[in-house]
Amino acid sequence: MHNVVIIGSGCAGLTAAIYAARANLKPLVIDGYEPGGQLTLTTMVENFPGFPEGILGPELIERMRKQAQHFGAEFLAGAVTDVDFSKRPFHISVGKENFEAKTVIVAAGASARMLGLDAERQLIGHGVSTCATCDGFFFRGKEIAVVGGGDTAMEEALFLTRFASRVHLIHRRREFRATKIMLDRAHANEKIKFVTPAVIENISDAGKSSVEAVSLRDTETGKKSELLVEGVFVAIGHEPNTKVFRSILDMDENGYLATRNGSKTNIQGVFAAGDVQDHHYRQAVTAAGSGCMAAMDAEKFLEATGH
Ligand SMILES: Cc1cc2nc3c(=O)[nH]c(=O)nc-3n(C[C@H](O)[C@H](O)[C@H](O)COP(=O)(O)OP(=O)(O)OC[C@H]3O[C@@H](n4cnc5c(N)ncnc54)[C@H](O)[C@@H]3O)c2cc1C
Repeated sequence: MHNVVIIGSGCAGLTAAIYAARANLKPLVIDGYEPGGQLTLTTMVENFPGFPEGILGPELIERMRKQAQHFGAEFLAGAVTDVDFSKRPFHISVGKENFEAKTVIVAAGASARMLGLDAERQLIGHGVSTCATCDGFFFRGKEIAVVGGGDTAMEEALFLTRFASRVHLIHRRREFRATKIMLDRAHANEKIKFVTPAVIENISDAGKSSVEAVSLRDTETGKKSELLVEGVFVAIGHEPNTKVFRSILDMDENGYLATRNGSKTNIQGVFAAGDVQDHHYRQAVTAAGSGCMAAMDAEKFLEATGH
């Protein structure tokens, strides 16, 4: 029987683990398919407080993990495949293994939707990004592309005009899902050039670990062309990792977990932290902050229920 089981080992899960371990609760952290979470996909992180020269994402995660282990957190490889939160203790399955927990912190994060190109996977953190707030600063004076047709793509494109010399907004259709106000703002910005209807078929040059150009196909005429850019921001949405919790935990229409009064979910003793419940800020520091909140809430809950 575990006092606290933490589902996910990104910034939120690891911060929750540090706090729960230091409260002597010996948390069990279940890693998931992506141990370390999204920060392991990136290179330099320059906006996490305490690192004036910046720090590599995987190194920051490794430090958090060591810090949690140092205070007694345990880690388990594997992903949660099923949960039973209908009564306490809660039951958590990782394949054939089953665990019991007095409290659970869900920190399963969200995954950015990608275009599905090999080069895109190889170049993430090396010119391909899914986060303008995180990486825009690296593209000062450069030409870049943003892919997407919704409000997020417009927001990312507008934000990126603060740094980039030109932003090519690539979208597969002529019509946009974005609201009129956002679309108008993007059209009014002279740094944004609309490239429609077009899809990216390849990003070069994965061999050089940097972005040099994108190969485009016009979706109406089939005509192919090349666009020289030094960065590609994929802005086609995120998918919260909440399938296992469907019809168990309250979520919004996009699958993000609903939290109230801090990190509380609709089930007493189950808490949520990080990007799995936040589609707005999506930053390492906010995820870490909410991981701290969840661990403190779990600790209070255990105290109040006499464990
Ligand atoms: C390329 C890139 C660059 C970024 N750069 C920055 C930056 O410079 N600064 C910044 O502040 N933010 C940055 N971010 C955003 C930041 O990484 C996220 O906000 C942060 O990682 C969210 O942390 P999290 O712990 O909530 O979720 P995640 O990091 O998404 O971690 C989720 C964890 O849950 C696990 N999991 C999922 N499903 C299950 C399951 N069923 N069972 C068990 N475990 C599961 C996963 O394996 C993973 O370990 C960047 C993101 C990306 C993708």
